[in-house]
Amino acid sequence: MSARDRLRIAIQKSGRLSDASQDLLARCGLTFRRSRDKLFCFGESLPVDLLLVRDDDVPGMIADGVCDLGIVGRNVLAEQALGAGPEPAFRELRALGFGQCRLSLAVPQESTWEGPAGIASQRIATTYPNLLADWLRRHEVEAKIVTLSGSVEIAPRLGTADVICDLVSSGATLAANQLREVATVLESEAVLAGGAALPNDERAGLAQMLMRRIDGVIQVRVSKLVMLHAPRAALDAITRLLPQGQPPTIMPIEGSVDDIALQAVCTDAITWQHLEDMKRAGARQMLVLPVEQMLA
Ligand code: ATP
Ligand code: ZN
Repeated sequence: MSARDRLRIAIQKSGRLSDASQDLLARCGLTFRRSRDKLFCFGESLPVDLLLVRDDDVPGMIADGVCDLGIVGRNVLAEQALGAGPEPAFRELRALGFGQCRLSLAVPQESTWEGPAGIASQRIATTYPNLLADWLRRHEVEAKIVTLSGSVEIAPRLGTADVICDLVSSGATLAANQLREVATVLESEAVLAGGAALPNDERAGLAQMLMRRIDGVIQVRVSKLVMLHAPRAALDAITRLLPQGQPPTIMPIEGSVDDIALQAVCTDAITWQHLEDMKRAGARQMLVLPVEQMLA
């Protein structure tokens, strides 16, 4: 691959990951010249261009050097990695916190489930034969893998399989097909994928900057700024009740001797329970604000 001075990132053109992928890149400050129906979008704010492709094509495009980074489900990346020999030319760089789902085994509702050994010699329909084979190997079970290209959930009713191994998020599709989830093969979400090594030209710096910004965006998504007033005597108790985060800033309140104002960035989710517990400990005037940007 010849040296390039522009980074290329591939995302899903249309599907479950498209909107969230575009949103993530926008939050990282990337803007592209609009070309909705085209494969290629020119990056305007930075030398980072976008390729809009089928999700299944992302790992191969990274391996071939057509793009440097990609956003794809871990399920797709891991499946193709298992099929790519001992040293795949692509790898997961970051989990992105959207597109959550799991690759699961499901059996007809009326079937019993007595653990992995119970499906020995049965037929399992899937579009993920490598991940399934790997799971079966790890559980020392021999079964027959029926590889399908789609509509896996109807295989048991059609009589072409006894068990299925398919992606599940809410479980509604399984329920609609009278199937019961019995084991998880892989926990998945959208991930940032890249080559086995970073390119050693201009693109390395761009990729690192983009990953730093992605880390910031992910961090910001759950982070909240908490502000409250409390008696100085309750400070320790309240600080202990705060979710994980940076050490709080304590400030005096004009005209008050006993009370202080506290401000803290919480990097773990803050719930109503946290607020009620802090109120009981003496906190007043609690405010929880979203964090817009963060750069450590
Ligand atoms: P393409 O046309 O790009 O090949 P596709 O039909 O293969 O699209 P989608 O159905 O859009 O792909 O799913 C993309 C990814 O979304 C999946 O690989 C998976 O990582 C994630 N995902 C999240 N929830 C689900 C779900 N309930 N079912 C399927 N995929 C899901
Ligand atoms: Zn696909």
